[in-house]
Amino acid sequence: MTIAVYPGSFDPITNGHLDIGIRAAKLFEKLIFGVYDTPAKKLLFSTAERVEMVRQATVDLPNVEVTPFSGLTVDFAREVGAQAVVRGLRVGADFEREFEMALMNKKLSPDCELVCLMASLKYQFLSSSLLKEVASLGGYIDDLVPKTVAVALKRKVHSRV
Ligand code: ADP
Repeated sequence: MTIAVYPGSFDPITNGHLDIGIRAAKLFEKLIFGVYDTPAKKLLFSTAERVEMVRQATVDLPNVEVTPFSGLTVDFAREVGAQAVVRGLRVGADFEREFEMALMNKKLSPDCELVCLMASLKYQFLSSSLLKEVASLGGYIDDLVPKTVAVALKRKVHSRV
């Protein structure tokens, strides 16, 4: 069975992440969204909240699973029997970082391939961090995230003021 993991912070999942997930799920028999438990960035949502939002966003995709993980992505991939790691590339910002990580991952786990999908044009400039900034300032974000995420974001932002 061809299995891939799609790792990320997903803080929170956006329509850009989802677009990559939907497209990757067509390429592999099973796609596992791996939600980093402790990424090296400040988080707005807990791991349980991030996992739940990804689960709800992907509920209609039969070959998609969602699981939290900690430690190296390549170890997570090995544990779940994945042959590939999926990432999304936006114009400019992502390439160098992904290349660097891909070379390190290749050294750590030579059999694991990186599959990068180009971000769709309409999501090129969408990031979770920008989304959180706009939401915290009361901007309209409903067309950039799944419905449950829009609700959760507004609730979180209000609970913080
Ligand atoms: P990380 O902390 O690993 O960067 P993110 O949740 O920010 O986690 O992103 C996970 C993956 O999704 C990365 O490969 C990132 O480049 C990709 N990604 C983020 N936003 C978008 C988007 N708007 N369109 C396509 N891919 C995206």
